[in-house]
Amino acid sequence: MDEQSGHSDDGDVAEAPGPDALQARAVEPADRVPPAGAGPFLPEKTAAPRAEADQTELPEVDPWAPAEDETSADQAATPDSVSAALSGTIPMPTASLQVKVEDFHFPALLNGLDFLNSAVESLARPGGSAPRDLKYAVLHLYTALEVLLKVRLEMHDPTLVWWTPERYSEAKHHAGDFKSCGAEHAIKRLNEHGLLEAELDPEDEELAALGQLRNRLTHFGTTGTTDAVRARALPVLLQLMTFLRLDVLPYVEDPIQASKAEREMGKIHIHARHLEEFVAHRKAEIADELRGHETRTILCRSCGQHAIVLPEGPAVDLTCLFCEKSYDGAGVEAAWDYLGESQHISISEGGSDLDCCSACHEHAVVAVSTAASPDTASYVCFNCDEVHDGVCAECNTAGGIVFPDGVYDMCHDCYQNRLDRF
Ligand SMILES: [Zn+2]
Ligand SMILES: [Zn+2]
Ligand SMILES: [Zn+2]
Repeated sequence: MDEQSGHSDDGDVAEAPGPDALQARAVEPADRVPPAGAGPFLPEKTAAPRAEADQTELPEVDPWAPAEDETSADQAATPDSVSAALSGTIPMPTASLQVKVEDFHFPALLNGLDFLNSAVESLARPGGSAPRDLKYAVLHLYTALEVLLKVRLEMHDPTLVWWTPERYSEAKHHAGDFKSCGAEHAIKRLNEHGLLEAELDPEDEELAALGQLRNRLTHFGTTGTTDAVRARALPVLLQLMTFLRLDVLPYVEDPIQASKAEREMGKIHIHARHLEEFVAHRKAEIADELRGHETRTILCRSCGQHAIVLPEGPAVDLTCLFCEKSYDGAGVEAAWDYLGESQHISISEGGSDLDCCSACHEHAVVAVSTAASPDTASYVCFNCDEVHDGVCAECNTAGGIVFPDGVYDMCHDCYQNRLDRF
């Protein structure tokens, strides 16, 4: 793993799962379900301190800002969207003093919604986004996710926003002088405290993939197309909007803030609908080319769509039909490029080679998700196109498996060897 193991400063952004994780995910227990007895979702008393803080005359400091290096830069990068959001939602003040106070007043909820609006506005732009806009769309969407998750935690208990809740200090909290938890921990805590009606999973693959893309953009730079980023952003956006509708907006006690939030949501809904239409349109465009090839159509690691059709014979210069990302090379090389890893680096750093194919004896077997069975791993050889049952845990060869148990699968030969020894 090289850039894929990049982490944010708070160490909380999960690495996107590789195809190996697919099978495990498929049999995961129902621990994603919010705890039972979460109770009726009535406005909480604990929301009061926030409303109180909102009424102070001092400009409110964004409590999340120090935890994310890019936050302040992002805010600086969008003065227009910020002031546009404010001017569009705040009644004209009558006193000059009021103008000053209002200009600085940007509570966390509206801050998060502004990041979200900025992200979807540029993703839904007709004709696609400029590369720079695309980058900020991803950064803003991820920032919106983190801020809005923490808004809900803060309403319930501000200490939960801290990376280490035991160290909570009210003074430091209001000064923004603390390290906050990241998205994954925020979702875990929301689940643990029964604060979610929406289903949010801290290990959700779509969230993890967006976090990974955010990391690559922040720390290394990356390339991608508008279609790929749109497809990656859409499922996260939809989850976030459901979360806002069910778990955040009903608990906003301050009527002025609630009405501003509703207006922001209105704009976000319009952009989100356009984004959905773009993605659906692109899927429809390639549907004919994919039809009938479901068992050989694998997931694109760039856009997350099942849109790469493996050829018969060796895989050569694979291309995603949805986002046009290309995976270069043939056979073994194509397999490594598909995984986004280098055989040389992996092996020289003590990692393992790819699994060996029992048909062609090349180390070119990759666990992939196919359109035909998206939730279970298929073991495909990129050198000879053989699809195997699984990989033997004894000899690391992909082939027929006897007594598969998903943990210690064994091939016929290894099973026979074991029988002969006893
Ligand atoms: Zn793609
Ligand atoms: Zn093979
Ligand atoms: Zn074996």
